Amino acid sequence: MDGNSATPAGTVTATVACTNCGATAPDDGTWRLTWTTGLERGETTWICDRCSRANLRSIEAKLDSTWW
Ligand SMILES: [Zn+2]
Repeated sequence: MDGNSATPAGTVTATVACTNCGATAPDDGTWRLTWTTGLERGETTWICDRCSRANLRSIEAKLDSTWW
């Protein structure tokens, strides 16, 4: 049990980390359902589920001010 988890052949495993808090995504792929992706300066950013919830209000606020 030393990070020797089996990875299915052909699966591209790039290390994804939360742009906000630096948490790394689990290998089981569930993060894809709960994490929020964005595009910042041409680079894909990922926000973990916890940060997404914490930042939801500010994100919406930003969208609002931009939108209006
Ligand atoms: Zn985070």
